[in-house]
Amino acid sequence: MAKALRALDANERCKVVAVSACYRTPPWGKIDQPDFLNAAAAVDTVLSPRAFLDLCLDTEKALKRERGERWGPRLIDLDILLFGGAVLKEEGLEVPHPRMVERAFVLVPLQEIAPQLTVADKPIGAWIERLDTSGIKREPGDNDWWLTDV
Ligand code: ATP
Ligand code: MG
Ligand code: MG
Repeated sequence: MAKALRALDANERCKVVAVSACYRTPPWGKIDQPDFLNAAAAVDTVLSPRAFLDLCLDTEKALKRERGERWGPRLIDLDILLFGGAVLKEEGLEVPHPRMVERAFVLVPLQEIAPQLTVADKPIGAWIERLDTSGIKREPGDNDWWLTDV
């Protein structure tokens, strides 16, 4: 995850401007597997949503992500949750991310970097209240883990 964020930040058209802590989160969708690590980041970019998605997918590939079973274990997953206020429903690109409001593992880290955010006209905290957050554990340490991690 640190390498992925550094790769995005190294692109001259992107700047990582905020990163949440890392969270250890129970699996979602396919629950017979170990915990995941999740974090949310804010990126300033002049890229289009499609070009930014391609950069994310290329970065996953460069980190040797292999696609297995849907929602199964993966080395890295870079998803676009929101892209400014854009609403897109294209082949291979949906923004806001269509499953984000059902996922505490997304919303809890996102709330940390964007506490005032509203999603579909509802405060992020109101979405979180509807979900089970009991298994979500914030990892200790500073939020510059992505810069210092080897
Ligand atoms: P989920 O989307 O449920 O989190 P996933 O992240 O495991 O599942 P992937 O295998 O990483 O799914 O991606 C499958 C495809 O999803 C990508 O090739 C990409 O084209 C598409 N996609 C659509 N919308 C988005 C988005 N907002 N962010 C990232 N990928 C997206
Ligand atoms: Mg995903
Ligand atoms: Mg993905």
